[in-house]
Amino acid sequence: MALYVYKFGGTSVGSVERIKAVAEKVKKVHDLGDQIVVVVSAMSGETNRLVALAKEMQPQPNEREMDVLLSTGEQVTVSLLSMALHELGCPACSYTGGQVKILTDSSHTKARIRNIDDTRMRADLSAGKVVVVAGFQGVDENNNITTLGRGGSDTTAVALAAALKADECHIYTDVDGVYTTDPRVEPKARRLDKITFEEMLEMASLGSKVLQIRSVEFAGKYNVALRVLSSFTEGKGTLITYEESQMESALVSGIAFNRDEAKLTITGVPDLPGVAFKILGPIADANIEVDMIIQNIADDATTDFTFTVHRNDYPRAKALLENGCAELGARKVTGDDSIVKVSIVGVGMRSHAGIASTMFKTLAKEGINIKMISTSEIKISVVVDEKYLELAVRALHAAFKLDQEIES
Ligand code: ADP
Ligand code: ASP
Ligand code: MG
Repeated sequence: MALYVYKFGGTSVGSVERIKAVAEKVKKVHDLGDQIVVVVSAMSGETNRLVALAKEMQPQPNEREMDVLLSTGEQVTVSLLSMALHELGCPACSYTGGQVKILTDSSHTKARIRNIDDTRMRADLSAGKVVVVAGFQGVDENNNITTLGRGGSDTTAVALAAALKADECHIYTDVDGVYTTDPRVEPKARRLDKITFEEMLEMASLGSKVLQIRSVEFAGKYNVALRVLSSFTEGKGTLITYEESQMESALVSGIAFNRDEAKLTITGVPDLPGVAFKILGPIADANIEVDMIIQNIADDATTDFTFTVHRNDYPRAKALLENGCAELGARKVTGDDSIVKVSIVGVGMRSHAGIASTMFKTLAKEGINIKMISTSEIKISVVVDEKYLELAVRALHAAFKLDQEIES
């Protein structure tokens, strides 16, 4: 007898018919005598709808109240799925995150899971029931409802799989696995049979929203057998693994991109010790995360300083920078919130030179201007105008032959 955690994303539970189809799939596993915990997201579009409702009330809603609101989406789907299972004669019981209890810290809207109590789930599983758990939510130690950040149901699933020592965790979604890049942008993208944790982590953190980054961190840390599959078609999907062998011959395994970027530049900053701190200190104090940072070499005792932030934080970051400009003795603040970050990722990069130059040559050939560059051992990221996103992704996909099968 095996124990599985299955997670179904928003599109997979987007209508009554789809919830019924999920119930059929779950029942089949249950009928084989296996134990199963199902995690579901809110119906597709629901979380966005709730966010929009909140914004109509207040431009910056209180985050605790936001979590009370957002958690309702998943509460709808757990109950409906449980009913669909009952209708099929399959015993099932639904739970909110708080009922389980999934204990988190108190960082509302981006909480981290601290502990999971498996008592109730174990009792239900032993009694032959399917356990249906609301993704994306938990409670803090004062019983306040918390949510885990967008895409957080993936993390709920992996965390439950770790806590229950499940045999496998399956993430069922609207694509049949992890692809060399988002198949919606490059139809020639190829499904990968396997991808390493390290690469998946990098892809997720660079914008591939197929898995929430924390779910990959969790799976790596607790050695959860994690697979991404389609809710709608049969297939073996993509296994996230520690094995590197299959991809050793590939220099670049995937292309990630992030549309949520904006950049800010402060020019003519006196080139003195402590300047970076003076610029970024107030940004950090305002809880704004900074991604790429570039400081130019000073040639006239002044320097230019550029950094990127999430597009949502752009107006606040720009205002903070403008406020501090005079005090810093800087010339001016400029910004651009129509940029994107495109990244190539691959563990094969470690041992090969010349990948960056291929990347830059490819973009140059398409007439795409690179505004910023950052590199690490297994990735190279560039910032470009958002109008070039699709062109850049497709050109790089072809240049690194990602549409071709890897010869082993
Ligand atoms: P769910 O609602 O099931 O959680 P998401 O929308 O969060 O689904 O994630 C699935 C989507 O991720 C796909 O529809 C696809 O557009 C996108 N995606 C981005 N990068 C990739 C990639 N490298 N491989 C597969 N899908 C990707
Ligand atoms: N419903 C949440 C979201 O849309 C969580 C999830 O689907 O994973 O982000
Ligand atoms: Mg998702």
